[in-house]
Amino acid sequence: MKTTLKQYTVAEICNGFVYNTYEGKGLYGLGGKLTIQPEYQRNYLYAEKGGKKEMDVIDSVLKGYPLGLLYFNKLTDGSLEVLDGQQRITSLGRFLTGKFAITFNRMEQYFDSLPADKQDKINKAELLVYECAGDESEIKEWFKTINIAGIPLNQQEVNNAVYSGPFVTLAKAQFSNSQNANINKWAAYISGSPLRQDYLATALEWVSRNYADTDMDKRVQHYMSDHRYCTNINELQTYFDSVIDWASRVFNCVEKEMCGLPWGEFYETYHSTPYNPQEVETIQKRLYADYYVKNRKGVFEYILGGCQKTELLDIRCFDEPTKRSVYARQTEEAKAHDVSNCPDCAMGHDSNKHKIWRLDEMDADHVTAWSKGGATDSANCQMLCKHHNCAKGNK
Ligand SMILES: [Zn+2]
Repeated sequence: MKTTLKQYTVAEICNGFVYNTYEGKGLYGLGGKLTIQPEYQRNYLYAEKGGKKEMDVIDSVLKGYPLGLLYFNKLTDGSLEVLDGQQRITSLGRFLTGKFAITFNRMEQYFDSLPADKQDKINKAELLVYECAGDESEIKEWFKTINIAGIPLNQQEVNNAVYSGPFVTLAKAQFSNSQNANINKWAAYISGSPLRQDYLATALEWVSRNYADTDMDKRVQHYMSDHRYCTNINELQTYFDSVIDWASRVFNCVEKEMCGLPWGEFYETYHSTPYNPQEVETIQKRLYADYYVKNRKGVFEYILGGCQKTELLDIRCFDEPTKRSVYARQTEEAKAHDVSNCPDCAMGHDSNKHKIWRLDEMDADHVTAWSKGGATDSANCQMLCKHHNCAKGNK
């Protein structure tokens, strides 16, 4: 790989800059000679969270701070692609083309409204660029190892770079496109951001379920490698849609705790089980209204599994005063009858039959299980030794 150090002004780099709002990326610079966002690059992120990062870039230039090195890839036809620095260049280009304002002299100012000397300062600011020429795999390998100014690449962004091709391009147009009308629906089930590739990563995790690799990242990479030159994403799209459609049909009522659950796994395990959506909704509402259900995220798997695994709901325990008063009552009675204060031990025939346990050796138990309508109050509380409480299990 050959590298040459070059110097450009901000005005030169941003000459011919176009920002594509639809795809969320900056396109060209250097009068068309520079591609700011090659396909394997990620979307523009500096405008996220109110645009603090892109404003910081402009602020740095106005203060005369260096913006750090930029890296361009020089292609055989002499044109250039940005390898590292596209977030910074896009910030500059967006500012120069009036896409956002900064606070200057305590006022919101667009580029055009800045004093001429400040405009000049930005236009003439110098950027240092390493231009690299080498073969594609060499450049990409190197690209994997560099960190982009303050926002490290995540796994899916690296995968998109390594397996770039028609498949990634099509998949990104669908799953990494914040203008896609389906994103709102998907956001109920998938956490993260389409621009950071979280939706694409989830879709790939789901569709690659049948690969033998135990590691999920490996399965995704395997799938991307196998489909790298595919000119459609039918399988990826169809499977993803099946999971989302199934989830939205079983659970009519959308709750925020649904977001980020392993819907792909749920689909695989439960999609051939019939559910009555009305019944599901009734149970779901009852559980959401139940004070004793501590883990609402567990409600969905609990319902899918036929309301068996109460541990998914993390049922609220008896409070300390209740435990103490029940312990005192039980222990007094037990001593009077010369039996263990654990009712299960008292009924047994081993050496614990007469044992008086300390409070810290016992746990509170629902006499009538919560799942069968038992309340969490002292009338439904009994203290059991830890061994018997564990054995009982079902809360
Ligand atoms: Zn016991």
